[in-house]
Amino acid sequence: MEKGKLVLIVDDNPENLRVLGELIESIGHESAFAINGRQAISFLEKEMPDIILLDVIMPEMDGYHVCRTLKKNEKTAGIPIIFITARTEPTDIVNGFEAGGGDYITKPFNMSELTIRLENQLKIKSYQEKLEVTNRMLDEKNKALGIALKKLEKAALTDPLTGLWNRRAIYKRLNDEKERVERGGRTFSVVIGDVDHFKQFNDTWGHDCGDFVLESIARILEDNLRKQDTVSRWGGEEFLMLLPETHVDGAFQKTDAIRRLLADHMFSFKEKSLSLSMSFGVVEFRAGLAVDECIKLADRALYSGKQMGRNRVEKTG
Ligand code: GH3
Ligand code: MG
Ligand code: MG
Repeated sequence: MEKGKLVLIVDDNPENLRVLGELIESIGHESAFAINGRQAISFLEKEMPDIILLDVIMPEMDGYHVCRTLKKNEKTAGIPIIFITARTEPTDIVNGFEAGGGDYITKPFNMSELTIRLENQLKIKSYQEKLEVTNRMLDEKNKALGIALKKLEKAALTDPLTGLWNRRAIYKRLNDEKERVERGGRTFSVVIGDVDHFKQFNDTWGHDCGDFVLESIARILEDNLRKQDTVSRWGGEEFLMLLPETHVDGAFQKTDAIRRLLADHMFSFKEKSLSLSMSFGVVEFRAGLAVDECIKLADRALYSGKQMGRNRVEKTG
């Protein structure tokens, strides 16, 4: 049994206050007194009792009114209230509970019964408080988990080196786009680009330099495509671009402009100024084509560009 709780006793009869006060102190709690509702409410503006024993019949404001007032106020709503009253009609008891009382004891009361009912209300309050703390903790943990999950989801779809969408992410995008076209949407084109002689580039300038170049290429591709286009890292030194609402000729022209830009670009790494080129394969989606087949066609076009000497854009479809 918890001790040392503050019990506010509200009763207009001083004798009742005295008897209840003695009882409260005899079971190890502290008591405070109010002789009417107004006094009880002004007490609560200064101090928070753990529980209130509330008489019903009082001048000015009756106990039900006091109880309703306290339950309406967020600050005092959590304080358990036990009515102690000479009113014993079932409707009186119901009124007490409806006003927000936690329990109802009729006078003359039995000391042991009052003690047990008081302790029960205190126990319920302490469980509620613990529950609230646990709920708050769970809420915070849930929030943190939500943030972690978002980060994980993003990481699962992003290439860590370039920050571009990864293969899995673009694959889903391609399938969505295919479905959009098959529902009657406008066409799209797919472009695969591959850095020329990148193995040799790495061997000559080092892997760090190679990484830097891949990041730079990613930015150049993003900066030179439209907002609605998607650039992804398809593999090691391969990039796949999805150009919605674009026919093969438009895709070819755009890609060739980027190819020239890349070939003219000087990559500055540790005081070195380096250049390279890329080859590209372009394909326009056709209804009935699977995404994999579409990619294969773009790959084949890319391969023929490599065979024809690299630094080229080839189209198909
Ligand atoms: P080709 O013109 O035929 O494409 O020749 P290539 O040398 O570019 O092609 P190959 O497939 O033989 O080599 C690709 C190279 O790309 C080998 C690999 O070391 C390099 N590479 C792949 N991923 C990365 C990466 O994340 N960072 C760096 N620095 N290099 C990478
Ligand atoms: Mg390659
Ligand atoms: Mg290559």
